[in-house]
Amino acid sequence: MTNRQAAIKVIKQLRRSGFQALMAGGCVRDMLLGRRAKDYDVATDAQPKDVIRLFKRTLKVGAKFGVVIVLTDDRQVEVATFRTETGYADGRHPGSVEFSGAAEDASRRDFTINGIFYDPLQKGVIDYVDGQADIKARVVRTIGRPSERFGEDYLRMLRAVRFSTQLGFEIEPETWQAIRRNAPNIARISGERIAMELEGILAGPNRAAGASMLIASGLAETIFPALPHGQAQSAVGILKQLRKKVDFALALAGFFARAETDIAIQSCDILKLSRSQNKHIKFLLANRGRLLDERMSLAQLKKILAEPYFWDLYELQRAIQKAGSDGLKGVAPLMRLRRRIKALGDVELQPKSLLDGHDLIRLGAVPGPDLGQLAEEMYIAQLEGTLRTADQAGQWARRWLQKRRAVEE
Ligand code: ATP
Ligand code: MG
Repeated sequence: MTNRQAAIKVIKQLRRSGFQALMAGGCVRDMLLGRRAKDYDVATDAQPKDVIRLFKRTLKVGAKFGVVIVLTDDRQVEVATFRTETGYADGRHPGSVEFSGAAEDASRRDFTINGIFYDPLQKGVIDYVDGQADIKARVVRTIGRPSERFGEDYLRMLRAVRFSTQLGFEIEPETWQAIRRNAPNIARISGERIAMELEGILAGPNRAAGASMLIASGLAETIFPALPHGQAQSAVGILKQLRKKVDFALALAGFFARAETDIAIQSCDILKLSRSQNKHIKFLLANRGRLLDERMSLAQLKKILAEPYFWDLYELQRAIQKAGSDGLKGVAPLMRLRRRIKALGDVELQPKSLLDGHDLIRLGAVPGPDLGQLAEEMYIAQLEGTLRTADQAGQWARRWLQKRRAVEE
């Protein structure tokens, strides 16, 4: 059973019990556009307590705000009671919700394209907000006065940019002006929520247009105050060169590719990314330029090749080079690097060390920093191909220790 079929099943059951029930939000928009919907949401006049009573398995996570998740056939269907929302004192969350009819529910939604209902049983569109006209015109427009709607929830500004980017729609001029005026208020939204929208904007193929909107609206400047405008602007060209689908970390690294590393990392900290995302992005930012160094030793090359995000670094550097003034010519060092990597064949990038710490102590090394340095230098010689057997490594280590002693005496 697909998500869509599960939603229809839920709708049928609500109807049988005498309630109104419709598909709502993003799935209707995507259906009208002929796009695959991520998830199918149901809107109904049944109250959460009715929904919980009617279905065997439910999750009551948002019941207070009118949202219940119905579990059916291994699918989750979000069932939301028609409601109005009021009192957004914090610029993000409604102070209270009141259950209502379908038309009021449509008008509390963010954009006209997201405010359309669909009746899958009668196969009819129910459109209280003129959403279909905007879908046809390919326009993102708030329902109601834009500055009022953004004032209720500033996150909607980033959502507008995200929908515009993902769908390739224009932002309607008054909506756009209101975003520009209200951009400084995006600072009131948490880094985590901002990051979720930025991911939607930057990870997809239309990311360069999305980044341009972030910059032109003033949102980028508020979110990343330390990032110089010119550097952000110049990064748009790099974002254009990245392949279609990339991880958020790679896209963000592209966005910060013209900035100094410490400013870029400080800017990413604002987004409260996960540990692994942070590691990913820091690796990319800190190693910019390294792949262009054609004097890189074999050991250095093997080490960086063994890094989990090596090919993302390669992709980032490729985009930086292509966006640079040398254009295609700028990519030449990377092509040579690729040939070098190919020539390595399937050589082990992280071979087991020929000798371990115990072996080195048996040869006379003293536990401590010296031992660490010896082990590291020996490993590099192994990666370089100078040392191939444990015997060779043993002789090499003895000589290293003799030299060290001679220096100390
Ligand atoms: P996507 O396909 O990216 O999930 P979506 O339109 O389904 O897009 P959701 O965030 O899943 O977006 O929200 C579902 C619906 O809830 C929206 O279509 C919109 O009608 C409404 N909505 C969501 N967030 C807001 C908001 N901040 N303000 C007003 N309405 C909102
Ligand atoms: Mg959705």
